[in-house]
Amino acid sequence: MRINVHAGHNADGRTACGAIGFIRESTEARRVKDAVAWMLRQQGHTVYDCTVDDAAGVSANLREIVAKCNARDVDLDISVHFNSGVGDLAGNGRTTGTEVYVYSPSSEATAHAEKVCQAIAGLGFRNRGVKYSKGLYVLKNTKAPAMLIECCFVDDRDDVQLYDCQQMADAIVDGICGRHMVAEESDEDKSR
Ligand SMILES: [Zn+2]
Repeated sequence: MRINVHAGHNADGRTACGAIGFIRESTEARRVKDAVAWMLRQQGHTVYDCTVDDAAGVSANLREIVAKCNARDVDLDISVHFNSGVGDLAGNGRTTGTEVYVYSPSSEATAHAEKVCQAIAGLGFRNRGVKYSKGLYVLKNTKAPAMLIECCFVDDRDDVQLYDCQQMADAIVDGICGRHMVAEESDEDKSR
């Protein structure tokens, strides 16, 4: 596959950076994005990084991301974000969890989004499910099927304690490409 990947928002320390809680959205989204891109390339996919670090503001950031996305012909656009707003600073023993947005149920990204939700939920995060939004700029304006992943909540102590960058990236790649393709091949080798 040919895949665009980007981390949401400007980089931390700039205007229009992402949410800040126990962890910083812009920083973690970039770590996850880098690990996802690396693993997808290892599997032989072509990956373009459409992240924008220093746009003039929120709308400029979104416009520049979409311009980078649409400069390539790809099968899928992946936008990596972290959620915020729950304010579970003490930790109530339950994660708030993960959700993935697509433009509509008929988007070709919807099946991938379902699998990404399930894979991240497999790490122990509550599965908030696939959600549909015609208002999110990236989903509305990218020409390829697109999904926006809200990995987990930066301001929920339970989410942040469970969160591990590499595991999150593994789950996203599993969701997109199918689980443990390499492991299945080696099992076959053993049985021969
Ligand atoms: Zn975000």
